[in-house]
Amino acid sequence: MKIIIVGGVAGGMSAATRLRRMMEDAEIVIFEKGPFVSFANCGLPYYISGEIAERDALLVQTPESLKARFNLDVRPFHEVVKISPEDHTVTVSHDGSEFTEQYDKLILSPGAKPFIPEIEGLSEATNVFTLRNVPDLDQIMLALDKEPQEAVVVGAGFIGLETAENLRKRGLNVTIVEKAPHVLPPLDEEMAAFVQAELADKGVKVITSQSATRFEENGKVIVLEDGQKLASDVTILSVGIQPENSLAKAAGIETGLRGGILVDEHYETSQKDIFAVGDAILVKQEITGDDALIALASPANRQGRQVADVLAGLERKNKGSIGTAIVRVFDMTAASTGLNERFLQQNHLPYQAIHVSGKDHAGYYPGATDLTLKLLFEPKTGKIYGAQGVGKKGVDKRIDILATAIKGNLTIFDLPELEFTYAPPFGSAKDPVNMLGYAAMNLAEGLSENIQWHQLEYELASGKVFLDVRTLNEFKQGRLKADKTVHIPLNELRERLTELDKEVEYIVSCHSGLRSYIAERILKQAGFAVKNLDGAYALYKMVKPEGVEK
Ligand code: FAD
Repeated sequence: MKIIIVGGVAGGMSAATRLRRMMEDAEIVIFEKGPFVSFANCGLPYYISGEIAERDALLVQTPESLKARFNLDVRPFHEVVKISPEDHTVTVSHDGSEFTEQYDKLILSPGAKPFIPEIEGLSEATNVFTLRNVPDLDQIMLALDKEPQEAVVVGAGFIGLETAENLRKRGLNVTIVEKAPHVLPPLDEEMAAFVQAELADKGVKVITSQSATRFEENGKVIVLEDGQKLASDVTILSVGIQPENSLAKAAGIETGLRGGILVDEHYETSQKDIFAVGDAILVKQEITGDDALIALASPANRQGRQVADVLAGLERKNKGSIGTAIVRVFDMTAASTGLNERFLQQNHLPYQAIHVSGKDHAGYYPGATDLTLKLLFEPKTGKIYGAQGVGKKGVDKRIDILATAIKGNLTIFDLPELEFTYAPPFGSAKDPVNMLGYAAMNLAEGLSENIQWHQLEYELASGKVFLDVRTLNEFKQGRLKADKTVHIPLNELRERLTELDKEVEYIVSCHSGLRSYIAERILKQAGFAVKNLDGAYALYKMVKPEGVEK
């Protein structure tokens, strides 16, 4: 059997090597239009600062090493420019000439390309770059050799933030421009606020709710929607990606949502014997069952392996993806899995949200750092919709657990049951993930009711009273700007219940949500109407600093 693969990086090369392990006699040819195969796309931003010091470290395999170990025919600088499904051939462009090659099975893993918005002056700009592959990186490094001062990153998604961090670490003044109201649009606003604070702390200027509308002076000046002008020596455009689908479309292969290549559960496209994997294909968002584009390395690698198994005659199905991602932004980590609150609201799905703050390991053991987790779930069944985490350490572990829980169809009721490795340097006997489960169960079983930070203003305007149960010292240091605030420290609450009114409803808050929950239980059992401000003062202050006063 002769198998041709288009694209020699994540999905394509996973398919090729697995194919060889399954089919020793198959002829496997990989066409890659770029100079390198199997390069580390995910590592590219870190070369900018020198954190990855050697360019060669990004080149994980070579055609020679792949030939030696896997007997693969790997051909860089070969672009497949046409597919003829009827006669099972591809036309390949190489070194200025074209040739055709016959296949029995064809696997497409062409990836995605950066989305380039139509911006006035962009075509004349000489200092605007995108980052997708090693040649892109080389261009950026050449520009950085000229020792520029000012860098602008347009787009604050995962790659935009990684690039911004590494430009800053290289010593440039960095400004990020993001069209959405906050950085990291896959996260919800209050979680992204932690990242925004970290960027500010490390000297990166962030401008949100603005997009670049014009480039002037060959890109040296960027004009934003509100007219403000930014000086830029180097600009990185990182405003999203789109499936690389032109080859497939020209071959009559059906595409769907935002141009993603449609495949069946065995990765076969609408054209017989042509398969596709990776960033270019549509998958099922596993939680909703809807079509989705989920451009991440882990699904691409898995799909590559699975399509090889399918061609080798094994039963493998693409179950879909949930979208689990992580980014380091200086000393902060932010990660998410599944659906976010914005999506749940927009799609009118019934949900409850819960925030838990804890430490990455036992608080009494040296070096513990803060961790904030958010869980979104279906109130009746406890089905987990998604989770997000921010903190200095231990975020990866918790979001990985929650991603595994989603994949394994665990519910909130299973989270307290999870047993983790524990000794003080590593975690807590009640891990923050267990705590999420306890807190979510309290909500689901009606022991606790909460409101979110974005509902507070409305709740107070409708007559509820804000009850702050922090210590007097904490209260003096900073408090919510609310007309009707009562302050009773938790430890005095039982004795001072007579100061409260059973005719009004209270929103109770402390610093992080633990004491306010205890207060809520005291008050509920004493017959008061009370809800907990989820995430409490600390979270509210992070996302709405203008809503608190000293
Ligand atoms: P790719 O790996 O992009 O490979 C596609 C290849 O196909 C390309 O090399 C392209 O040149 C080639 N090609 C396209 N058309 C043709 C043609 N007609 N003929 C021949 N060759 C063709 N994901 C994560 O999960 N975590 C991360 O930290 C992360 N960081 C990233 C950082 C950067 C800077 C980038 C760019 C991506 C990052 N990703 C990350 C995404 C991840 O790299 C992709 O999801 C993954 O590589 C997709 O695999 P793929 O095989 O679909 O496409």
